[in-house]
Amino acid sequence: MTFCYRLLLLCSIVTSTLGLVYTSPRSAVAQTAVSACQTPALERFLRHKVASGETVESIAQRYNLTPDTIIAMNPALQNSKLTVGKEIQIPPYNGIVVEVPSGQTWRQIAAKYKIRPDVLFDVNGCQKNPRVVFVPEVKRSPNRPITQNPTSTPASKLVGYPLPELAKVALSYGWQTNPTNGEVFFHSGIDLLAAKGTPVKAIGDGTVAFADKQGTYGNLVIINHSGGLQSRYAHLDTIKVSVGQQMKKGDTVGSVGTTGTPTTNQPHLHFEVRSSSSLGWTAQDPKNYLQR
Ligand SMILES: [Zn+2]
Repeated sequence: MTFCYRLLLLCSIVTSTLGLVYTSPRSAVAQTAVSACQTPALERFLRHKVASGETVESIAQRYNLTPDTIIAMNPALQNSKLTVGKEIQIPPYNGIVVEVPSGQTWRQIAAKYKIRPDVLFDVNGCQKNPRVVFVPEVKRSPNRPITQNPTSTPASKLVGYPLPELAKVALSYGWQTNPTNGEVFFHSGIDLLAAKGTPVKAIGDGTVAFADKQGTYGNLVIINHSGGLQSRYAHLDTIKVSVGQQMKKGDTVGSVGTTGTPTTNQPHLHFEVRSSSSLGWTAQDPKNYLQR
């Protein structure tokens, strides 16, 4: 496939994907239901009307993007000057739009572009089988992926334990092999073994941001904490809290269950800690926040 053809393809994808959805981020107030996923990046493009004196560089700078990203999203700029009054597409991050080839999955796209699959999934609104995905730019330096919080030690005092007793870890955070089917996948949390019905506790003070069913998570509770951190409690049997509720450390959020698609059939709590990053809520190793 030639470079030009590729650009044209991207252009048509961006245009067709954006055709129906206008631009500004859905406001939290306007949303009828609080989602555990972010709005897909492709629905968060803005349109910028070129003003007199602007250059690709100045527009890129204004939106904290690279000129390459602006040109990739607006292939017509490759060969022509900016025209005052013309509208151009502004993506939420540096990156590219990729059509998922038939017979491939977005997981293969993640592997190809060396981006954590959980990040790609989240950036694209947790869609199961997207036809087109936005792949945020992965920094060229292989040692420090942009998806990681630059500060490796937690800056906040969020430490606690989500169960009454210290539990055995069934599956740790990070790249893992699924014990059932041998598939390698990214595990965005830690699985703590506990009997069904065991109370699940908030690991810190915060506000309930989500309390409902959510795909493979099953019954899920999300608590937002100060310091741009979030804890997630999944596969719950029961949910005892509701959105907006203020939580104190140790308050019960629900009980251990097997809802959703747990990695193992042994009842466990799938527990996550996420931190707010430029790409949304990025999973962190929960080990650093667990303390009894
Ligand atoms: Zn898990």
